[in-house]
Amino acid sequence: MIARALTPMEMLRERKKPLYDMNQSHILNGGRVKKIIDASCPACDETIYIPIEDAYLGNQIECSECGALLKVVNESPLELEEIF
Ligand SMILES: [Zn+2]
Repeated sequence: MIARALTPMEMLRERKKPLYDMNQSHILNGGRVKKIIDASCPACDETIYIPIEDAYLGNQIECSECGALLKVVNESPLELEEIF
């Protein structure tokens, strides 16, 4: 399964989730609060936002800006490589 990077709007919505909404987001995410990391897309150079649970070595992510298929080649710092 290919994960999709978040668009900047989706990222803002995740980060701006108010504290009083925590219980609800726990339920929605199956007991986990979503954390997001930013990385730059090697294909289009845009900053993209990836849920931390999708940012593991070897996982494939679709760029939210250009649609390129990317692979996680390093976790810390997060590095992505385009798959052709
Ligand atoms: Zn891109």
